[in-house]
Amino acid sequence: MSTLKDATNIALLGAAIPPAYLALRFVRGRARAEEVWRASQYPKLGDIGSVKHLSILPLIDWRTASDELEGESGVSYLIRADDTTILFDMGLNSRDEHPSPLLRNMARLGVSFDEIDMIFISHNHLDHVGGMQHVKDGIFGPSAGYVNLHQMPAYAPEPIINPSATAIVVEEPMALAPGVVSMAPIPRQLFFLGWTPEQSLAINVEGKGVVLIIGCGHPTIQKIIARKEMLFDEPLYGVIGGLHFPVTASRSVRHGIPAQQVFGTGRWPWERITKADVHEAISFLYRRNPKVVSLSPHDSCDWSLSAFRDAFGSRYAELLVGKEIVI
Ligand SMILES: [Zn+2]
Ligand SMILES: [Zn+2]
Repeated sequence: MSTLKDATNIALLGAAIPPAYLALRFVRGRARAEEVWRASQYPKLGDIGSVKHLSILPLIDWRTASDELEGESGVSYLIRADDTTILFDMGLNSRDEHPSPLLRNMARLGVSFDEIDMIFISHNHLDHVGGMQHVKDGIFGPSAGYVNLHQMPAYAPEPIINPSATAIVVEEPMALAPGVVSMAPIPRQLFFLGWTPEQSLAINVEGKGVVLIIGCGHPTIQKIIARKEMLFDEPLYGVIGGLHFPVTASRSVRHGIPAQQVFGTGRWPWERITKADVHEAISFLYRRNPKVVSLSPHDSCDWSLSAFRDAFGSRYAELLVGKEIVI
């Protein structure tokens, strides 16, 4: 899509919401996010325990391991950390279906809610809480219809509810189970989508180190890893999930606008994520020497996936729905 066409579409969208208001909110929000970031000083977590076994099974993402499974530009991962099973995010369900693609993939993969102990919501965007209708209603959910979540705890970075779950807002780093930690939200101001706190999950694997599981990566990988280094002495072992690198294309196009390139970046609408940004993130990560890197295709383009694959070689794991990543 041409930049001129983008600009026209952005201008049309801007006409619906006063641009001066958006610009002011953006400038203020960006400053506030930096203030919050600087003020968020936490001590080391100390002994939070560790897990012997960790696996991540993508239930929803853009690419799939087989044609029987469905892909979409959202996130839902099943995380098994010893005896604790976590559902990380709820997918996109773009057609507002019941059963949703998430439920259909779960059925095909033999996963049921009976085995899940807790829900972790990385942030309250539509591709992570289960769709646009859910965002409008201020809820999260795995499908458009009712699903019994057995009142299990659901940890989120902002208030959001589900009638059959027990929602808990995470404000500070918090141990959720032995070896399993929410690193607490890191906020980012996005031009159209506004104030966006996002939390990442950190799991300490015995004898290996900390594996980070990330939703969209809005705070930037640099800040997420800085938070990890503030909280843990253990080395970084793995980074799995979304880092928001839609450089040459956007998985999601809304009203003719390449949504991920324009809406999710934390920059002015006319400033884009560049190849240089991706290379900078890769070298930042490379210096930490992680043993497993897996970039979510849901919010990164094919060019960025290739750049990560080339940089990390045999340490790079493809992130595919239905293909379990075993640490
Ligand atoms: Zn996302
Ligand atoms: Zn997002």
